[in-house]
Amino acid sequence: MKSIGNNMTICPVCGAGGTFSFESRDMMYDKQEAHCYHVCRNCRSEYQTPMPNAARIASFYPDDYDQYVPLGELNRPSHAKTAVLKYHYGYVHLPAPPFPYRLISRAVAAVRYKDELPYIAAGRALDIGCGNGRFIRNMNALGWNCEGVEFNLTAVNVCRQAGLKVFHGDLHQAKYESASFDLVTARHLIEHVPEPDALVAEISRILKPGGQVAIETPNNCSWGRKMFGRRWFANEVPRHLVLFNTASLTRLLNHHGFRLRQHQTSASPKIILNSWDYVIGNRGVPSRKKKLRRILARPISFWAALFNKGDILFAVYEKT
Ligand SMILES: [Zn+2]
Repeated sequence: MKSIGNNMTICPVCGAGGTFSFESRDMMYDKQEAHCYHVCRNCRSEYQTPMPNAARIASFYPDDYDQYVPLGELNRPSHAKTAVLKYHYGYVHLPAPPFPYRLISRAVAAVRYKDELPYIAAGRALDIGCGNGRFIRNMNALGWNCEGVEFNLTAVNVCRQAGLKVFHGDLHQAKYESASFDLVTARHLIEHVPEPDALVAEISRILKPGGQVAIETPNNCSWGRKMFGRRWFANEVPRHLVLFNTASLTRLLNHHGFRLRQHQTSASPKIILNSWDYVIGNRGVPSRKKKLRRILARPISFWAALFNKGDILFAVYEKT
């Protein structure tokens, strides 16, 4: 991490100066080592300081961090989802759902399935950090020509056993041809990357003009983050290296020639209740598994999402 004096560091998102924001520890695995985060004075991104190198980042991930289970049966989308995809996202080839779903699809689309992506016939799509390949398989079932990139070899093998096309390594190592994809998706990935600028530059290179990238990442301007501070579950110290908000993510994407197409935030009782467990030091049954607490957390997540202050940010950008 570059230091520019007066305890200031350079923001990896926009290059402006940042100062101390918070210090926390790995609460998910109950480790005691402290990790420091700075906040950018310009774009309000937060970033780990000093930024760890690759070997140290690898040490943040215990062997049981992600369980890559083989894919089960493919679940067909519900009638409501099929109607929204067919009538609002251009999936005209899908079979028509029963009569009432066509009528109510507009109302359903206003409140649900807002993170679906407009269909491009046989469009080539890439899911970065594809895990066990569930998303790739779902996309292929909807008519996309989707493949993936994944760092974890166990996950890659799970994908390949399911017949999915996946590159083992990181995006830069894959060396895809320039302007060769219609769509790139990166869900819960960019916050784990020490150099988000280089990641977005590579996404821009491999996308066709007019191609889109969909990014999902924690929102550090959420009500949850305000309420729980350094104990907010989605900080996920120390594995989350950079925490974004809509403005800072958009600034980064604009810098690489993208324009914002749509964005929204979502919230769930899970993040609220896991954060609450960090606050009270709950080591017993997680609050998210207690019905009453889930019921109490639901209105908070509902209102947070309604005011665009949800914990998870989803944004789609188009390469101009
Ligand atoms: Zn910044």
